[in-house]
Amino acid sequence: MKCPRCGLENGDRTVCSKCGHFMYRPVDQNRKKMTKAERAREDAKIMWKNIAKVLRIVWMVIVMVVLSFLMIAVLTFFFNGA
Ligand SMILES: [Zn+2]
Repeated sequence: MKCPRCGLENGDRTVCSKCGHFMYRPVDQNRKKMTKAERAREDAKIMWKNIAKVLRIVWMVIVMVVLSFLMIAVLTFFFNGA
């Protein structure tokens, strides 16, 4: 099935392997040999990959905020000291 968000062809997946968008499975008639459990595991793997991606961005934002606060602290210290 084509992902409605990014347009990637995902075959029989429930979650897009590119952007992680949840999709409806149209009909179960043209499913592959993959079992439901295997597919769920595969989808969970993709989902975790996307969560990790988001967490990495969140972490970067936190680091940047902390660094800017540190920079402001150092700058105010120097300006007050001078
Ligand atoms: Zn997609």
